[in-house]
Amino acid sequence: MIQDVRAVLSRHWGYDDFLPLQKQAIESVIRGRDAIVVLPTGGGKSLCFQAPALLFSGLTIVVSPLIALMKDQVDALTECGVPAARIDSTLPPEECKDVVGHIRAGTLKLLYVAPERLLSEGFLALLRRVEVSFIAVDEAHCVSMWGHDFRPEYRQLGTLKDRFPKVPVAAYTATATAKVRDDIGEQLHLDRPEMIVGSFDRPNLVYRVHARTDRIRQTCEVLDRHRGESGIIYCIRRKDVESLCAELVAKGHKAAPYHAGMSAEGRKANQDAFITDKIDTIVATIAFGMGIDKSNVRYVVHTGMPKTLEHYQQESGRAGRDGLEAECCLFYSGGDFGVWKGLMRDMEPQARQIAVEKLGEMYNYCTGGFCRHRTLLRYFGQDLNKADCAACDVCLSEVDCMEDSLVIAQKILSCILRLGERYGAGYTALVLVGSQDQRILENHHDALTTYGLLSEHPKRTVHDWIEQLVGQGCACKAGEFNVLAVTDKGRRVLKGIEQPRLLRPAKRPPQKTPISADSWEGVDRGLFEALRRLRAKLAADRKVPAYIIFGDKALRDMARQRPRTSEELLQINGIGEKKRRQYGKAVLATIREYCLADGLEIDPPVR
Ligand code: ADP
Repeated sequence: MIQDVRAVLSRHWGYDDFLPLQKQAIESVIRGRDAIVVLPTGGGKSLCFQAPALLFSGLTIVVSPLIALMKDQVDALTECGVPAARIDSTLPPEECKDVVGHIRAGTLKLLYVAPERLLSEGFLALLRRVEVSFIAVDEAHCVSMWGHDFRPEYRQLGTLKDRFPKVPVAAYTATATAKVRDDIGEQLHLDRPEMIVGSFDRPNLVYRVHARTDRIRQTCEVLDRHRGESGIIYCIRRKDVESLCAELVAKGHKAAPYHAGMSAEGRKANQDAFITDKIDTIVATIAFGMGIDKSNVRYVVHTGMPKTLEHYQQESGRAGRDGLEAECCLFYSGGDFGVWKGLMRDMEPQARQIAVEKLGEMYNYCTGGFCRHRTLLRYFGQDLNKADCAACDVCLSEVDCMEDSLVIAQKILSCILRLGERYGAGYTALVLVGSQDQRILENHHDALTTYGLLSEHPKRTVHDWIEQLVGQGCACKAGEFNVLAVTDKGRRVLKGIEQPRLLRPAKRPPQKTPISADSWEGVDRGLFEALRRLRAKLAADRKVPAYIIFGDKALRDMARQRPRTSEELLQINGIGEKKRRQYGKAVLATIREYCLADGLEIDPPVR
C-alpha cells in the first residue's frame, strides 16, 4: 500500500519522498487506526490526510476552523489535480449545489467543512447516503481548553465517533504539549489513537534576539537582508503597526498594515496583497496569521516581546514553511515585560499565576542567552540532539558571553540593594554608569559605593544586563513602578555560589541566513528571478497565490537543474503531472530563453 502512496505523491505533488513521520502518519490512517498527529508548522501535516484520501474508495472529510485555510488547501489540491472542494458560508448557492452534486456522485475525494456545518442534521443526512472513508480534524488543538485557540464548536466533534463508528478519525495539530494531546484524544472519543509526535525543532529557522534600542533601525537591518522577499513584522499595539508601517513605506519598502482596528475590507485587501506578493511585508498585530499558509515567508520580526513562548513559536513558525532557510528576529525590552504584567493585574489569581509564569519563561528566553532552538524545544518537553544548533545568535557567536559575568552581576545586585530596592532598571543603570543626572545628584546617590562601578560600559548595555538578571531570576520587578528587588537566587549570586550569564552583542554583524548555502547551491539566481516573474504572471492569470503554482523550493530546483524536456521537468521536486501539463511549456520556454540570452548550456548540468 505504501508503494501506492508513493505513486500518488509523485503523480500529484511531484515529491519523491516523505518528510519525517509522514509515512508513519499515512500508514496509520491506511490501516484504519485513529491517530493524533503532532508535527511542527511546515512539517507537512496536510499531506498526511490528503495522500491517503486518494487511495480510499469513498470520501475524506477534512474539518477545518477557517475559511481562508480551507480555500487555500482546496486551491492547492485543485492545482495538483486532486478532486477537492469546500462547503462554507461564503460559497454562492450555485457552487454549493455543484459540490453537493459531486458528493452524491462520488466524484470528490476530499471535502473541507467547518465543524458546525458538518454536524448539522441536513449535512449528516447527506453523508449517510455516501461512503465516508476517513475523517481528518485539522487544527485539532481547537478542541482543547488547554490549547491556545479553544473553539467551542470543535467540542461537538466528540459525537463523530458515535455517528461514524467504522470510520477512522485522525487529529492533526502543531501544538505540542502532552496535556493538549491527551485532551484531544479524550474530547474526540478516539479509539486507542496512535500518537505520532514529531520533533518541534525547525532547523531551517535562524533565531535572533536583541534588546530593542532603535525599532526602525533594527527592523530595517533585517529587511535589508531580505530585499524583495516576503516577511511579517509583528507589533504589540495597533498604533505601533501604523507608525512603523508608515516609516517603512517612507523608506521605500513595499509594506502594508494589518490589525483588528481596520475595516474588514482593508484587512482583506492587505492580506491578499501580501499573499499574492504584491507587497513584501505585512506589519501586523497578532490578529494576523491564523489561516495563512503562505509557504515562502522568509522573515518574521517581533518588535515587541509576545506574552508566551507558545505565541512566539506559533508566530515565528510562520516563517520558512517550505523548509528553506528563514530568519526570526525578536526585539524585546524590559518595558514589554512590564506592559504584559500590568495587563495581567486584573486576572483572577490562579489564571494570573499561570500567565505570569509563562511571561517569565518568555522573558527568560530573551535574556537567558542559551541556544534558542534548545530553549524552545525544552519548553515543549523535547531536547536538541546536537551540541550546537548553528542557527541562532548564541550558537553563531553573534553575542559575547561576558567572562566576568559574576563580578558584573554582583555589582548590579549590590547596587539594587544599596538603592534600598526602591528604583527601576533605568535609574539603577544610570547610577551604575556614574551618570550626572539631576535626580541622582539630588538623591545623593552619587555618594553610593556602587555609583559608577560599571562606568566603562554604555548605559544601554548595563540596562540590558539588568534585564538579563531579571530574566534569569536573580532580580525581580515589583509593584506598579517595577522597582527592582534581589531574589534568593540573586543573593546566592552575591555570595558567589550561583553563576549568571551576561551577554552583549558581538562586534560581528549577523550574516544573511548562514544555513542558506545548501539550498542556494548551484542555483542560477538570474534564472530564479526569471522564473519568479513567470510564476507571478501565472498566479495573476489564475487568481491564486504564487506559492500555490510553485513553491520556492521547486523554483530553486528548476533554476539549478535547468530541465530541457517535459520528462526532465517531472524530476523537479514539487512538479507532478498536472502542473507539468499546465505550466510545463511556459517554464521550459522561460528556461530556454534565459539560457540562450545568457550563453548558458541548455543541457542540464550533471546531477
Ligand atoms: P503544515 O500544515 O504541517 O504546516 P504543510 O502541509 O503546509 O505543513 O506543508 C509544508 C510544506 O512542505 C508545503 O510547502 C508542502 O508542499 C511541503 N511538503 C509536504 N510534504 C512534502 C514532501 N513529502 N516532500 C516535499 N515537500 C513536502
